[in-house]
Formats: sequence, structure tokens, C-alpha cells
Amino acid sequence: MNGTGKAPDLAREIEGCRLCAARFAATASAHTPRPVVWFRPGARLLIVGQAPGARVHQSGRPFTDPSGVRLRDWMGIDADTFYDLDRIAIVPMAFCFPGYDAKGADLPPPKLCAETWRARVLAALGPFETTLLVGGAAIRWHLGERGLTQAVAGWKTHAPRVFPLPHPSWRNTGWLKRNPWFAAEVLPALRARVKEVLDDAL
Ligand code: SF4
Repeated sequence: MNGTGKAPDLAREIEGCRLCAARFAATASAHTPRPVVWFRPGARLLIVGQAPGARVHQSGRPFTDPSGVRLRDWMGIDADTFYDLDRIAIVPMAFCFPGYDAKGADLPPPKLCAETWRARVLAALGPFETTLLVGGAAIRWHLGERGLTQAVAGWKTHAPRVFPLPHPSWRNTGWLKRNPWFAAEVLPALRARVKEVLDDAL
């Protein structure tokens, strides 16, 4: 990760963060913090994810997993475009993999991360032309709405500046089947907006 202005210093500061070391050591995965930082000033589109999963914890690059494949399909873009730091910033609700609980389920992003970093990161970046809120934690923080389906169904209230989205995880395949209006109505509007914003940034 690199860039210009205030953000590179901030990125390095976050990459060195170990605030959750004790918390992560106590999880079933017993891992150490590895902040995955992916932003540069000047990006026009912001993706707010949840937190890195185990694969991203290994790769050090956001969305290098099946969720990323599905998210890129939703956005209608290829991997080269998705990882173009000059056009897209990816700032999750927590920068590190939160770990697994005793049953092997993903733990939620630690709130401490957003409390510590989020305001500074968003102040150093942006303004963004469009923000994708990917999953319930991002929707709650940015919109204050607690119901994911309700927030996504109300997408026209926020578009085109903000798109509340379900998380593209395989765990939400059932949600996608139960809510066919998402693919029929939201995705075409999302793809059109992503294309418009990214083409303008060329
Ligand atoms: S999750 Fe956030 S606060 Fe916790 S160690 Fe990683 S960067 Fe620091």
C-alpha cells in the first residue's frame, strides 16, 4: 500500500496496530493481528467491508476469496479494476481477521477498530462519489439502520451516493434466493453507477 498526502502515514500506523493482540490470541484461531490496509487518497469509490476472513488474513489483500469473486460480479468489474487503488478504496469495519469462535464460526469485527481508526481514515480520504456498504456492520455504522433486508430494500433512498448491500459471502446465498428483487433491481443500478464513477476517474 502506498500513496500521497496524509494517508500513507496513517496506513503505516494502522499496519502497525496490535490493539487486538490479546483478544485474537484468545480466539479459537489464536492468531496475531495482521491489518489489511487498502486505500489511497483520490479514490472515487469506497467499499466498506466487514473484516478480513481467514484467506485474506493469509494473502494480505482484501476480498481474495469467493466473496470477492461475487462482489466483483455484482459490481460488473474485473480484478484489475477492483484493485486499482487510484479508483477504489476498501476500508472494512475492522482491518484484521477477527478469528473463529469455539464452534468455528466467524467472530464479528471488533468495535474497537472502528472506534480507533474509522473517523481518521474517512477524514483523510474522500469525498467519495459512491460508497458500497457491504454487510450489516457497515450498514449499521454508516446508516444507523439495524435491519439489513430493510436497508437494502430501501436502496433508492440512498442511491446513487450509497448502496447498502448484503455481504457477498456464500452464507448469504439463501438470502439472495429469497430476495430475487436484489439481482433484478439493485444490481443493474449498482453496475451502472460503478461504471459511471470509474469511467469518470480514468
Ligand atoms: S482489528 Fe483494528 S484495532 Fe484491532 S489490531 Fe487490527 S487494526 Fe488494530
